[in-house]
Amino acid sequence: MKIAVFDTHPYDRTSLTAANAVHSHDLTFLEPRLTTQTIALAQGCPAICAFVNDVLSAEVLESLHANGLKLIAMRCAGYNNVDLPTAERLQLPILRVPQYSPYAVAEHAVALLLALNRKTHRAYNRVREMNFSLNGLEGFDLHGKTFGIIGTGKIGRVLGGIMLGFGCKILAYDVQPSADFAAKYVDLPTLYRESDVISLHAPLLPATHHLLNANAFAQMKSGVVIINTSRGALIDTPALIEALKSGTVGAAGLDVYEEEAGVFFTDLSDSVMKDDVLARLMTFPNVLITSHQAFLTREALANIAETTLANATAFEKGQPLLNRVTT
Ligand code: NAD
Repeated sequence: MKIAVFDTHPYDRTSLTAANAVHSHDLTFLEPRLTTQTIALAQGCPAICAFVNDVLSAEVLESLHANGLKLIAMRCAGYNNVDLPTAERLQLPILRVPQYSPYAVAEHAVALLLALNRKTHRAYNRVREMNFSLNGLEGFDLHGKTFGIIGTGKIGRVLGGIMLGFGCKILAYDVQPSADFAAKYVDLPTLYRESDVISLHAPLLPATHHLLNANAFAQMKSGVVIINTSRGALIDTPALIEALKSGTVGAAGLDVYEEEAGVFFTDLSDSVMKDDVLARLMTFPNVLITSHQAFLTREALANIAETTLANATAFEKGQPLLNRVTT
């Protein structure tokens, strides 16, 4: 099947090419993100493959559909960037990769937390400049601390298991609590009040948009550590900045940012930062930002590539679409 693959980087091309040895699709790798301006690049392809920051708005979907598009294969788990009602109206199947490595994302959340707590990012720079002072590098024992997890799906539960190993007490909140997760489920105010660390693992939905806002931060323990490897818009960023300035939030590890599209995944080192909110966030010594890299392990990339291409193969052969997004 001829597939236009948007927003690709060398690591995508390597993993998709390797997986395609079995599936033999006709892949066209494109660097640009899918936006209203780049729709034409999919001309002649009955399928496109898209990622987290591609724009799959009503306008884009209608235009692609008018050009003969039959399938959208997302190479990610989340689909908050897809206008699902329009896709349904146009009968455009949206396939995704519901699971590729919850370990990759959960382990990156822990990497952010450990670096922030023990200030490894600062120590690394200091030592390289021959500054062997320890002043200001004090952290805290995670053992015995309360770790709050919002969203206990695949990633949240793996993270809970890791943090149990650190000797943390786990508090959890989910609209659908999981019976096989050894955590105490509490309401959000209790989780906010009691947690020393809060990690976000719920999807971005209208109900979770700006879940952590000024009101939520006001209920938290002073000095709480916030980790977000889910979706940027779960956090109201200006409210986070105020909470960091007041000390309510003691540190923030962010792998996602609500305005990340067009910034993350791109080398902008020769440019001027135009996003003042992101620029302000980057000035805090107790904020560690990574560029949506939590998924980036060899295992996850191989699983993403295989499932994405298997989804396209199933569509092409008229087989059941097990990974179809439903509304
Ligand atoms: P999942 O579907 O297995 O789990 C999501 C959980 O969130 C479910 O248990 C669900 O009931 C819960 N939930 C839904 N609405 C909620 C609400 N209002 N409040 C609290 N909980 C709610 O998903 P997953 O595989 O664990 O992934 C979680 C999120 O991680 C994805 O939605 C995606 O946005 C993000 N993600 C990020 C990366 C990355 O590289 N940074 C990679 C993969 C996934």
